Amino acid sequence: MMSDTPISDDALTGEGLGLPGVQWGEDGVPRSQRFDDVYFSLHDGWAESRHVFLDGCALPARWRGGERFVVAEAGFGTGRNFLLTWLSWRSDPQRSATLDFISVEGFPLTQQDLQRALAELPDPAMAPLAAELVAAWPVRQPGFHLRLFDGGRVRLLLLFGTVAEVLPQLTVPSGGLVDSWYLDGFAPAKNPDMWSDDVFAQVARLSRPGARFGTYAAAGFVRRGLEQVGFAVERRAGFAHKRECLAGRFVAKLTEQHSAPWFAPPVPLAAGARVAIIGAGVAGCALAAALSRQGLSPLVFDRHGQAGTEGSGNPCGLLKPRLTADGGVHGRFYSQATLYAMALLPETLWVGKGIFHLARDAEEAGLVQRLARTLPPGHAVPMDAGQAQQVCGVEAPFGGLWFPHAGAIRPPEVCRWLLEQAERPIPVRPATAEPPQPLPDGGWLVAGEQVEAVVLAAGPFSRLLWPGAELPIHANRGQISLWSEPDNGTGSSPSAALSFGGYLSPSFTDQQERAVRVLGATYRRWPDLADDQWSVLDDTDHQAVSDLLQSHLPAQAAALATGDGRIGGRAALRATIADHMPLAGPLFSATDFRTDFADLHHGRRWSAYPQARWTAGLYILGGLGSRGFQTAPLLAEHLAAMMVGGPSPLPQDLSEAVHPARFLVRSLRKPPARKKRDE
Ligand code: SAM
Repeated sequence: MMSDTPISDDALTGEGLGLPGVQWGEDGVPRSQRFDDVYFSLHDGWAESRHVFLDGCALPARWRGGERFVVAEAGFGTGRNFLLTWLSWRSDPQRSATLDFISVEGFPLTQQDLQRALAELPDPAMAPLAAELVAAWPVRQPGFHLRLFDGGRVRLLLLFGTVAEVLPQLTVPSGGLVDSWYLDGFAPAKNPDMWSDDVFAQVARLSRPGARFGTYAAAGFVRRGLEQVGFAVERRAGFAHKRECLAGRFVAKLTEQHSAPWFAPPVPLAAGARVAIIGAGVAGCALAAALSRQGLSPLVFDRHGQAGTEGSGNPCGLLKPRLTADGGVHGRFYSQATLYAMALLPETLWVGKGIFHLARDAEEAGLVQRLARTLPPGHAVPMDAGQAQQVCGVEAPFGGLWFPHAGAIRPPEVCRWLLEQAERPIPVRPATAEPPQPLPDGGWLVAGEQVEAVVLAAGPFSRLLWPGAELPIHANRGQISLWSEPDNGTGSSPSAALSFGGYLSPSFTDQQERAVRVLGATYRRWPDLADDQWSVLDDTDHQAVSDLLQSHLPAQAAALATGDGRIGGRAALRATIADHMPLAGPLFSATDFRTDFADLHHGRRWSAYPQARWTAGLYILGGLGSRGFQTAPLLAEHLAAMMVGGPSPLPQDLSEAVHPARFLVRSLRKPPARKKRDE
């Protein structure tokens, strides 16, 4: 019998992601009102999952001895299959080095329902795993959400959206992606969308040769649909009273091209490959840890011999969502990256939680209202003047936006923490930023070390390390001022940061044990990288940020002035790109690229073009501007996945939007006459 809690129509037609309309039976089994079906069967549901999915895919035998193993599931539901697979994998001494579990869910449960559904577990060893899953459950935001468990060796990639929407967004590395499929999307008769020919075609597109699937479905059209796309299907005995279920093996040849040749995924590196990372800022540190968790051996070089200097070296910085009005690549990328960074960083790394963004005029007040809707509920809260005063202690005549989950961090500390997330300690080696030297028999020489691959993560200096790619990275100098915190406080909220075009950090204790605040930051193009005067502090810049504070938050400016005043500052260069998107991907020779894709403007079919000739073993992670702490963790996972041929946490269009070859592709797509005019 179901509980009689009424479910409103609203709940079933929620914007973005639909709600499942969960009802709880007295027996403790959740039922989806939307699909009129139960999430799991009451009688020995765990044993049934094992029979249908793990046994159906010949697990654990098939992951034994391998480097990585990728399971993909249609229908995450209550996460029982994930937990069963994770526990089975971690209890197997012969398990693969890593386990990727990709799972699609169009109607995610709330965290409370998830917790309730996992209240009864078949094995006490599963309890801590279930607790971790519940704690890490993402917000209900459409798109990809990555979560790392077991020190990053288990990677859960949740794709929130319907199967028809999200499976086409996965990038297929050369050689395919998925080893095992769990097709678990409610009964085919009740949910035909999950079992359509288009979905079967996606299953085939993403499969590696020899991939298996398991499903409790036994309908003839499911069997025929999967046979049609290249699976040899077997009818198996069903569990308990059920007559049969299906399993199968992917036997078709991989012939189709799955990416545009100009964005073709590079050939994956072999397990254990040594990778030099040049630069130990937030990009290099996040990447080193991601690569080591993926079974590569990173070596980190930095001219300062330590993590978190230069652009990642300010004593305090804001981790604040970048909101854009468009629902296109910018908005989705920054929202996904920021949600990931905020979920990743432990409480101990935050100097203070909460950022209030001040609307500077009526127009901005209207804009922030609209922008707030691009983040999940509760992440960007519009406030009027009264609320701003009450919650943040700020005089904001036009109100603003309150970001309760964003906040202030200490960049160098975050860099060191990111580096510590590696499988084993990674020292930062001092080395001047010399271009990497290709070796005649393959591989590279970096600071006297032979390595199989190199990643440039040296901010604006990356441009000089591989000029042949003609990367449009610009250097922008940013200066901050350091102010002494008056004994009486500044009169604003004690832990919230304020943003107003510039920003004022919360009060924090600096390395010299002083109570201080950072007031930032200027933004000025620095055209000549050979000119090393960028770190010299400039009084005009100090004045500019003070003036900005004075004009928008005069009470805070007056309060700051009651203390010991400005006690220092810092300047560094940021690497920026005109389209405001970063760079993550393989490098190349721009000359070769132009030759290979000279007639891209003709828009021929993909097979008419050669595969892009990436410079073997050379990549870049950069162009992060002043948003590195938001974007580097996710970009590092993306690049690391690309380098090993694993599942990327970025949908394909976002992966192309951060691809280092995108500028050449854009210019080659224009017909020659237009190109000339534009240049
Ligand atoms: N594997 C789950 C577990 O271990 O608990 C049970 C899955 S439940 C039987 C089916 C799931 O598929 C539900 O969570 C439902 O919301 C989801 N679903 C149904 N149709 C979908 C669609 N078209 N796209 C994405 N998810 C869908």
